[in-house]
Amino acid sequence: MRILLSTCVLALCAAASAQRLAVDDAVLLRPYAGCVLMAGGSPHARLFGGQAWQNGVVPYALHASVTPAMAQGLAAAMQELSSRVRVQFVPHSTQTDYVLVRDASINSSPIGRQGGMQTLFVANWGTRFEVVHALMHVLGFWHEHQRPDRDTYVQVQQANIDPARAVEFSLVPLGNTYGQPYDFASVMHFGATEGGINGATTIVALPPNQSQQATMGQRTQLSVGDLEVLRRTYGSLQPPVVTGAAPSVVPSYQTPAITLTGARLDETSRVLFRSTVVNFQVLSSTQLRVTPPILPAIGPAPITVESGAGPSQAFVIQVNGIDPPRFEGPPVLNTQVQFPFRVYSDAGRYNLLLAAFDNVPSVAPGIVSLGLGNNFTSYGEVAIGIADASGLWTVNLQGPTGVGSGRQIWLQTVVFDPANFTLPLSSSNVLAVRVF
Ligand SMILES: [Zn+2]
Repeated sequence: MRILLSTCVLALCAAASAQRLAVDDAVLLRPYAGCVLMAGGSPHARLFGGQAWQNGVVPYALHASVTPAMAQGLAAAMQELSSRVRVQFVPHSTQTDYVLVRDASINSSPIGRQGGMQTLFVANWGTRFEVVHALMHVLGFWHEHQRPDRDTYVQVQQANIDPARAVEFSLVPLGNTYGQPYDFASVMHFGATEGGINGATTIVALPPNQSQQATMGQRTQLSVGDLEVLRRTYGSLQPPVVTGAAPSVVPSYQTPAITLTGARLDETSRVLFRSTVVNFQVLSSTQLRVTPPILPAIGPAPITVESGAGPSQAFVIQVNGIDPPRFEGPPVLNTQVQFPFRVYSDAGRYNLLLAAFDNVPSVAPGIVSLGLGNNFTSYGEVAIGIADASGLWTVNLQGPTGVGSGRQIWLQTVVFDPANFTLPLSSSNVLAVRVF
């Protein structure tokens, strides 16, 4: 079952501690508090609260009871998992947390990493996906039919269940289903008669899924759903893929959030915008929102999405300047204090800042269209500067002395490329400011 607990269930922690002591056959054959050993030959899990293995690395050691043939069966089952998702089973050396694998008359395992040594008991060495099922318990997964929502999909025939195995049919309310649909084909689902008294039916698929009755209990492969929850927990072997960006062309002066589309984006651990680490928000496995830095440099910008499996191929978006230029600043000018005014244009452009006063005749009408018609009766150059790599030019202005308080000034910039000077010049919006 494919629900993972990330926190230890209090009532079960004591049992987990006891399990760490289960290193000999005498203990193996004795039920501990809070758990029930199963009848021979059937796979099942003890309901301990466990955690995922860090970085998907599961150290394991073989007990002397494991023969070379058994070890081969175990290795084949481990390979089924490690060849599909980012899980590695490595021989135990000095790791604190590890799994001791031993031969037994039952399959049994705690759920997830317990801390310290924990024991995986295996009986069905020769049935690969029974061992895979047991390893899924080691990795932190419960039975599919123990999902909190299982009663919507199956009817559990409580009266037919061997009392010794009732715990394998209990609901796990804290389980995380990752929002995945109920999966009759999961390798973690019991078959229809599993755990039944004298082979009686224990699980019935409810309408409209009666056709799944025969699917339940398959032990021939990891289902699509199994692989998805394994991937969600431990990650893919392949890095994320980015196939699109919206928008793919962004203005440098006011960069919006960019939504990337692709695959495995929910495994993202880091996003690089050019070489800068930027914030991201996972929307789904196929969508990721990234927030580039304010005022990125104009030009191509490769975005790389990284996961534990490595970086994606770079997806290149374009950061553009703006034409016509955009002019921003405060609505007032003080004769004592400087205020920053900003012009957003294109990298390397020359900015010419012009000012017009409300009571002086125009001296050069028609050369630069300031857009104010008869209101604009004069103009004068205030400043000139060059836009930086982001297309930004900032100029600090203070009100002119000798101009009476309350007077109106209009400011506008014209922008040109000195290497390619063409008329008419690109002109910004007009800012009306008042002197005080
Ligand atoms: Zn099981």
